[in-house]
Amino acid sequence: MVYSENELIFCNNCKIEIENIKKQGVMSKVELLLVKHPQKVFQVNYPIVKDDGSIEIITAYRVQYNLNLGPGKGGIRFHQDVDLDEVSELAFGMMLKTSVTGLPFGGAKGGIRINPKKYSKVELEKISRGYVRELFDAIGPKKDVPAPDVNTNPEIMSWMLDEYEKIAGEKSPAFITGKPVADGGSEGRDKSTAMGGFYLLNEEYKDTEDKKNISVAIQGFGNAGAVMAELLYENGYKVVAISDSSGGVYDDSGLNITEIMDELYKDGKKVGRINSLKGDKISNEELLELSVDLLVPAALGGVINSENVEDIRATKILELANGPILPNVEKVLESNGISVIPGLIANSGGVIVSYFEWEQNLKGEHWTLEEVNRKLKERIVGAFYKIKDLAQKENLSLRKAANKIAITRVIKNVNVN
Ligand code: GLU
Repeated sequence: MVYSENELIFCNNCKIEIENIKKQGVMSKVELLLVKHPQKVFQVNYPIVKDDGSIEIITAYRVQYNLNLGPGKGGIRFHQDVDLDEVSELAFGMMLKTSVTGLPFGGAKGGIRINPKKYSKVELEKISRGYVRELFDAIGPKKDVPAPDVNTNPEIMSWMLDEYEKIAGEKSPAFITGKPVADGGSEGRDKSTAMGGFYLLNEEYKDTEDKKNISVAIQGFGNAGAVMAELLYENGYKVVAISDSSGGVYDDSGLNITEIMDELYKDGKKVGRINSLKGDKISNEELLELSVDLLVPAALGGVINSENVEDIRATKILELANGPILPNVEKVLESNGISVIPGLIANSGGVIVSYFEWEQNLKGEHWTLEEVNRKLKERIVGAFYKIKDLAQKENLSLRKAANKIAITRVIKNVNVN
């Protein structure tokens, strides 16, 4: 099939992102063509027997956007709205993320179109195992290495690993990352997304002696957002607002995150929702519009969009989620003087430690938490300064500089017959 330069067969937001990259003159027409299409796209539909004996067909996807830098890498999300468009967009993002951080991986992503809250644990296990069975030929330690993403966790990774190893007939822990440590997972992987972003913030604010002067609002209190809130609070930053899907709480003089965590979590399990906490309530929409030094969107994509972009008053935004700022509104933030640390570096801590996990599995090693965090800091901060240097040299936003570095590395490695 011959594609024309204007033809794009996949997601809308990738189109806009590619247009932005194109406008920078980073890519020639030929190069543009090479990254306009995901390399491999899979959709599977498979039945599971539910607890009540009825049969349901599950629809799921895996997109391997680009495999030129190495095996595909990227999480699997469970969400009722997941579709091919979204998974392609996220796989495109993973391609940029693994490239900009110098990892030996291409970009991939998976999604299962379910609302996980509506299924029992037994059903979720069947759904997870079915995914691996259906996609077995396309995935594997040297082909494409999945990981957790929205609504998936270490337990789901270990079901998937078990299914993979059963079919393969051999031990193969490097097939998947984000596993429980007992099943070959890496120390520090659970906190790595927030930890990576935290290292970047310490660089950003290294000249601010008293971190109490930095006010922070965090949207989303899942694995990334809650850990970030804790890290910032423990290190003296002033976290003024947090939220989850139930709503948020706000205190101008700073929230006590340790107390909040004690209330919301018992034995590491989330038992409460933020709307059950005492204190001033704030909606998710209001949180995003607070006048703070730093806003950390750590939930789903698209939360900063054409409807609210003009009302965003934070000085800086760290994208801890994937794609919280829609590409078509970025220029508004830019002209309002709001600087953005883009997700492809800001939340890359997760995939960086996934890489360490994969490496440990292949070598049969187990690194200490200190070693993992030292390597994470070195890699993420190193990549960040490369982006910052290019941004300064060419007067680009951090996102444009990061895109340029990422795309250039991918293009260099594309195979053309
Ligand atoms: N889901 C995470 C991300 O979006 C981690 C991916 C991985 O570890 O492969 O970066």
